Amino acid sequence: MNDPTGVGPSGKKRILTGIRPTGPLHLGHYAGALENWVRLQSEYECYFLIADYQVSDFADDISRVRDAVWEVALDWLGVGLDPEGSSFVIESLVPEHAELTTWLAWFLPVGMLERNPTLKAEMEAIENPDDGKTKGRSVPVAFYTYPVMQVANILMPRAHLVPVGEDQLPHIELTRETARRFNREFKPIFPEPEALVGRVPRLVGTDGNAKMSKSRGNTIDLKDSAETVAKKVRSMYGGPPRGMNEPGKVDDNPIFLYLDAFDPDEALVAELKERYEKTGVGNKELKERLTLVLNELMDPFRERRAKYEANMSLVREALEHGTKRGRAIARETMELVRDALDLNYLGRY
Ligand code: ATP
Ligand code: MG
Repeated sequence: MNDPTGVGPSGKKRILTGIRPTGPLHLGHYAGALENWVRLQSEYECYFLIADYQVSDFADDISRVRDAVWEVALDWLGVGLDPEGSSFVIESLVPEHAELTTWLAWFLPVGMLERNPTLKAEMEAIENPDDGKTKGRSVPVAFYTYPVMQVANILMPRAHLVPVGEDQLPHIELTRETARRFNREFKPIFPEPEALVGRVPRLVGTDGNAKMSKSRGNTIDLKDSAETVAKKVRSMYGGPPRGMNEPGKVDDNPIFLYLDAFDPDEALVAELKERYEKTGVGNKELKERLTLVLNELMDPFRERRAKYEANMSLVREALEHGTKRGRAIARETMELVRDALDLNYLGRY
C-alpha cells in the first residue's frame, strides 16, 4: 500500500473538521472556522463532521440534536460548502469512530485530559453555570471520552489539516501527541495534523462576553433574517456609557471587533476609529454600518439556504453520500489500525 500518511487517489491532502449539532450556527462558527472551510474545500479532500456523539451537554434535549443535524447541514450549504466535492459526515453513522475511540482510550493518560483548558472550562460551566440552570448537575463520563473521540475523528480520515476556532487547539495538540505515539510504538499510519485557526480566532458575543456561544444566548445566527440581525445589532453592547459627541476608546467598544472582522472596507473602519477617539461617533452610526455589512455578507447565505430548504431531499442526499465516503475511508483506516495493533487474533491458527 502507498504511504497511509500521504495523499490518496485524489492527489489531495485531507481536512477533517466538524461541528456539534446542538443548534443553529452563528457568526463565531463562521469567522472562526467555516470561512476557512469554504476557502480550502477545493484544494483539500474534505471531511466535515456533524459530531452527534459529542453532545452530552444536550443529552436532556435529544430532539434538539436530531433537528440540529439538518440545521447544520443547511447552514453549511448556505455558506457555500459543496457537498459533492467534500463529504458531510454524520459521526454516529460511522461507528468506526466509537471503535477507534475505544482503542485510543488505552493510550491516553487521564492527566492529559485534566490539563486541557477547554475541557476544564466546559465542565465548570456545567457544574456552575452563569444562569444557574444546570447547577449541581454532575459532569457526564462522556466529557472524558469526547476529547479522545475528537482525536479519533481527526485520525480517522488520516487528516493533514484541521481548520478550527482557537478553543479547539488543545484537542489538536492532543491529537498530534497521540499520532506521534501511535506511529512510534506501532506503525506509522497517521499524519501529524496541523491546526489552522480562522481569521477571527474567537469572536466575542453580542453582549461583549469573551465568546459568542449558543449557550450564552449572545449569538447572531447565520440563518437570522435581515430584521433579526438589525435588532440584535441594535441591542449589542457598545462599551461604557458615553455622551452623544463624547470621544471613546476603540478598545472598549466590541462593535469595532465586529467591524474589524466583517467590514471589507478597511479604510472606512480606520476613519471611524479615528473619529471615535477624536470627536466621538455615536453607537447608532456604528451599528447601522455593522448591520449593513453583516446583511451583505449573509444575504447570499440566506438565498442558498432557502433553495435547499425548499428541496430537503437534496440535503438528505448530501448527508447520505458524504457519510458513505466518510465510512469508506474509516474502514480503510481501521484495517491499518488493526494491522498495526496486531489484532488479528484468529489469524494465528
Ligand atoms: P457553542 O460554543 O456556540 O456552544 P459549540 O461548542 O457547539 O458551539 P463547536 O462544535 O464546539 O460548537 O464549534 C465548531 C467550530 O466553531 C469549532 O472550530 C470552534 O472552535 C468554532 N467556534 C465556535 N464558537 C466560536 C467563536 N465564538 N469564535 C470563533 N470560533 C468559534
Ligand atoms: Mg465548543
